[in-house]
Amino acid sequence: VVRLSHVRKSFGKNEVLKDISLDVRNGHVVSIIGPSGSGKSTLLRCATLLERFDDGCLSFGDLEVAHSENGAAVYAGKERLHEARQHFGLVFQNFNLFPHYTVLKNIMDAPICVQKRDPEEVEEEARELIKRMGLAGNENKVPCELSGGQQQRVGIARALCMNPEVLFFDEPTSALDPELTQEVLRVIRDLASRHMTMVIVTHEMGFARDVADHIVFMDGGVIVEEGRPEEVIENPQHNRTKAFLSKIA
Ligand code: ATP
Ligand code: MG
Repeated sequence: VVRLSHVRKSFGKNEVLKDISLDVRNGHVVSIIGPSGSGKSTLLRCATLLERFDDGCLSFGDLEVAHSENGAAVYAGKERLHEARQHFGLVFQNFNLFPHYTVLKNIMDAPICVQKRDPEEVEEEARELIKRMGLAGNENKVPCELSGGQQQRVGIARALCMNPEVLFFDEPTSALDPELTQEVLRVIRDLASRHMTMVIVTHEMGFARDVADHIVFMDGGVIVEEGRPEEVIENPQHNRTKAFLSKIA
C-alpha cells in the first residue's frame, strides 16, 4: 500500500534520514521504534507529505508521489499529491482537533469539505464511528470538555471518517497518562483486528509487540534492524537495538 525507497532527508547539514526504505503491505501493522531524535517523526512526515524529502521514491498503491532522478526527489504535480492525500489518515501526539468545533463537526469536516461527500451520509458514518470509539453521548461537546484519551479517540475517528487505506500514528499516546493510554491502545488494537493497515510510531513496546506484524528499529537516521516483533523485540541482533530495549523495558 505504501512504498518508500532510498529516502534521504537533511535539515541543513544534519542528515536525518539516510537511505530509508519501507514497504507497508495491505492489512499489515508496522511499528517504528527508536530513541529520541532517530528520525521517526521525520520519516512519518515525509511519508504523509507534510515534509519533502531530498532524494528517494514514495508511492501509495499504483500512485507514484515522488521518484528519484539524478540523486534528487522529483514530486508529482499538485493534483496527484491531492489525490495521494486521500489514501491515508494521520493521528498526532497532540490530537490537533479544531477547538471550537464539536466532536461531530471535527469528524465530519474533512469528508465534507475536502472529499466533497454527501453530508448526510458522512454524518451517519461519523455517528457510527463515535460509537465504535466508545464516545457515544459526546457528539456535541467541544474538545476541551473531553479527557485526553477521549480527544485522541476523536482524532482517530476523524482520520477513519476519510476512509483511508492506511493510518499513520505518531506517538498517539505519549501525551496521555497510563489509564487513558490503554483506552486509546484498545481502539488501535481493535482496528488491527479488523486488518486496518497502520504505521505506528510508539514507545509502548508491549503494545508494539502484540499488535505489529513488522517492527522497524531506527537509530541515527537509519533502519538498524527490522523484522517480526518476536525477532526484533525478544531477540534483537544488533547491539544498538539491545541497548535501546534494555533502557526502555
Ligand atoms: P522523538 O522520539 O523525540 O519524537 P524522532 O525520532 O521523532 O524523535 P525527529 O523528530 O524525526 O526524531 O528528529 C530527527 C532529527 O531531525 C533531530 O535531530 C531533530 O533535531 C531534527 N529535526 C526534525 N525536524 C526538524 C526541523 N523542522 N528543522 C530542523 N531539524 C529538524
Ligand atoms: Mg517524534
